[in-house]
Amino acid sequence: MSFEDIPVDVGVVYEGERVRGKDMFVELGGPTMEKKYELALARSMDEIEDEKITIIGPDLKDMKEGSYHPLGIFIEVAGKEVEPDLEGVIERRIHEYVNFVEGMMHLNQRYDIWIRLSKKSFQKGFNSLEYLGRVLIRLFKSEMNIIERIQVTFITDPEEVAKQYDEAINRYNERDARARGLSDAEVDTFYGCSLCQSFAPTHVCTITPQRYANCGAISWFDGRAAARVDPKGPLYAIAKGDTIDEFRGEYTGVNQAYTEKSLGKVNSVALYSAFEKPHTSCGCFEAIAFVIPEVDGLGIVHRDFKGETVNGLPFSSLADSTAGGRQVPGFHGISIEYMRSPKFLQVDGGWDRIVWIPEAIRDRVGEYIPDEVRSKIATEKDAMTISDLKSFLKGKTHPVVDRWIEIEDVDEVELPMEGTGDYVAVPGEFSAMVGGVGGGLEIIFKNAKIYAEKVIIRKTGKGDTKK
Ligand code: SF4
Repeated sequence: MSFEDIPVDVGVVYEGERVRGKDMFVELGGPTMEKKYELALARSMDEIEDEKITIIGPDLKDMKEGSYHPLGIFIEVAGKEVEPDLEGVIERRIHEYVNFVEGMMHLNQRYDIWIRLSKKSFQKGFNSLEYLGRVLIRLFKSEMNIIERIQVTFITDPEEVAKQYDEAINRYNERDARARGLSDAEVDTFYGCSLCQSFAPTHVCTITPQRYANCGAISWFDGRAAARVDPKGPLYAIAKGDTIDEFRGEYTGVNQAYTEKSLGKVNSVALYSAFEKPHTSCGCFEAIAFVIPEVDGLGIVHRDFKGETVNGLPFSSLADSTAGGRQVPGFHGISIEYMRSPKFLQVDGGWDRIVWIPEAIRDRVGEYIPDEVRSKIATEKDAMTISDLKSFLKGKTHPVVDRWIEIEDVDEVELPMEGTGDYVAVPGEFSAMVGGVGGGLEIIFKNAKIYAEKVIIRKTGKGDTKK
């Protein structure tokens, strides 16, 4: 494939390249723009003018250095094997292909895209979205050979972006709703995605009917369609295998897929927990479930939330603690759609364990929060400090308050130690959180042998002395 007519290099080597604010020529989409999107639609062959590129609104050369613009990317594709189930997967490849362009950075997905072009690439002559269109067309046609015809439209005119934004949101909602009718128990195959391994090498998404991909862009149906037409691609089938624990979402097939795809770094996952062997988190997650140790609950923050959360940390700082393809107990990347799932964090208590969410999230998923707890979860309007949060939860008798009583009732607990001889052997690996607000340390013990006459768990607090 030739990119000789493109003024900058194009290749996988540029994936993961960051364009800092001081180096950028323009920003398209991103946090300063309320409306932005990328959308792929399956069309019939006669609806597509093959390889046509349209730009509606100012082109790159018409933009001022350092300026910010809204953006819509609209990809229409056709081919004998192209079907609507593939739209989400085709759309997600935009992220990968834009990042192949030297000096271009693409983050996030769907209604949340954030693109920057570097000054260097602009100066090299990459001064039109026409070039980006050509790159996308060539990569889509060569990497996904089911695509026989494709046309690409870029929209930078604010009014036009706003007009098509609603259509894009409706289309995302339709796709998400489709997967809601199916349960994890009804299928014997899940789907895996390793598209984000260029950013987080040990990350593997396991996509089930009831656990949507972290990025919120790929459903179980999307995974199934992609694995069928491109079995060697980044989306592949995972045979569930034997059920180790259905409630926790542990399956031999999923564990095996993690072991293989993470090259042995991650070997065991409980799909429905944020604390115990959680699903890995890349960096594309739509939201984060984060532990608030002071109330023994979880907060949720989404990518678009502006400013600090209840523990004083913004999304970006919490994302640093979460991302990278790791399993970090208490810091868990999730999609918005997963919050609508009956399996949502069920090992940890589900919605009964959620203590704080942004109002915008409550508006989006409110009808999926059980009636008994919906009004007991604080938003930014109710609490912006831990002490306010404690008072709010106590006042509303949130279910986590029962967990506090259990601890307060106990002065000192002695745990019986089981084992042979003087030692308790802990095979494999376990970890303990030593935490403060929004972070702390995780200590990992590997194949540890621990000797203790007894273990004491003691509540410490104001006026107590830790022994
Ligand atoms: S977040 Fe998961 S499903 Fe989405 S692109 Fe990345 S690896 Fe694939």
